[in-house]
Amino acid sequence: MKPDLFQAPDYYNIDELLTDEHRMVRDAAREWVKKEVSPIIEDAAQKAAFPTSIVNGLAEIGAFGPYIPEEYGGAGLDQISYGLIMQEIERGDSGVRSTASVQSSLVMYPIYKYGTEEQRKKYLPKLASGEFMGSFGLTEPDHGSNPGGMVTNFKDKGDHYLLNGAKMWISNAPFCDIAVVWAKNEEGRIHGLIVERGMEGFTTPETHNKWSLRASATGELIFQDVKVPKENLLPGRSGLGAPLSCLDSARFGIAWGAIGAAMDCYDTALRYAKERIQFGKPIAGFQLQQKKLAEMLTEITKAQLLNLRLGQLRNKDKATSAQISMAKRNNVEIAINIAREARQILGGMGITGEYSIMRHMMNLESVITYEGTHDIHLLITGLDITGIPAFK
Ligand SMILES: Cc1cc2nc3c(=O)[nH]c(=O)nc-3n(C[C@H](O)[C@H](O)[C@H](O)COP(=O)(O)OP(=O)(O)OC[C@H]3O[C@@H](n4cnc5c(N)ncnc54)[C@H](O)[C@@H]3O)c2cc1C
Repeated sequence: MKPDLFQAPDYYNIDELLTDEHRMVRDAAREWVKKEVSPIIEDAAQKAAFPTSIVNGLAEIGAFGPYIPEEYGGAGLDQISYGLIMQEIERGDSGVRSTASVQSSLVMYPIYKYGTEEQRKKYLPKLASGEFMGSFGLTEPDHGSNPGGMVTNFKDKGDHYLLNGAKMWISNAPFCDIAVVWAKNEEGRIHGLIVERGMEGFTTPETHNKWSLRASATGELIFQDVKVPKENLLPGRSGLGAPLSCLDSARFGIAWGAIGAAMDCYDTALRYAKERIQFGKPIAGFQLQQKKLAEMLTEITKAQLLNLRLGQLRNKDKATSAQISMAKRNNVEIAINIAREARQILGGMGITGEYSIMRHMMNLESVITYEGTHDIHLLITGLDITGIPAFK
């Protein structure tokens, strides 16, 4: 792969709106991605293997639990810093960002928010340091966009719960030490349970043959009469709102992350277009290529501003789920379009692993589907505008 010469586009001087801490956190993540992710990521993606060697580095840049308080091992940062870290990691690769997102927003967040003090102390510091890796089990083979229909269930057996069912498409599943699993009790109410690797009847087969997020491990979580200790139930919240609140946090991170991928595609295409000579001049000098580049930068700039404002709202705990949906949907869509246009600017070279664009493009096909599909986020906005649900 080519050396990482990334220069971040910032057409509206958004840097000026960030604090010193934001810039410091962002720059540390950016440097780390250049040094540790870029040189190895193409190979990891080609081999379809999660690069475990970067786990410690992810922990060091604060990617595991950026906004979890320091007393639990988190970085104690604000939401904008969290977003900036996700932006920089996904600038490197969406699969690596997915691992960090799951760990932070879908495993640490529910334990911090809905767990007991004992659970927080037991799990959060280990998750923050990367000693433990976590996964989040919501989606099932027959319940994706409609997770409320889940059939995974647990029964009260006096001194423990008995968990049965299966989750599918679970990031980090093949190597997770713990899984936050959403399941129905005997009354049909959804609860979160912490399931640990090693519990009898709990297996995590890997999902192979993905053309997308190849550097992220995906798998199933299968529960066959798994005895889960009662103290592993997250008592703070039940109902579908509990997992959905975790998804809010993860989707916010995706809105930022997708722009990282878009920035990388734009920057790569711009550099290539200035260097590649056809018909006696750089292809950047042709109007058709300038149109592509100008539109890319316009969309990136709009999305950067959207993210910053959303981060300000999240910092005040004022961002609605629908606002987060709009940002996730918009930013992933523009990122995937930018990847496709950037790929064309590189001509034949664009399909090779010499450049990051094709990998970003394929990764974004998962990003546009997971954590709520593109269509579902549109329906969320539609519901918010009209008050009328159009899901069924
Ligand atoms: C690589 C990867 C990693 C993932 N990681 C995780 C994870 O860590 N944890 C987890 O729990 N899940 C994870 N997922 C699952 C992901 O969230 C689901 O794939 C997603 O929610 C969509 O569900 P589905 O694939 O079953 O599609 P479906 O729900 O079957 O949807 C298929 C199509 O139908 C459309 N559709 C569905 N309902 C409606 C409707 N009411 N109106 C209009 N259109 C509709 C959808 O928009 C979509 O286009 C992951 C998925 C992938 C691909």
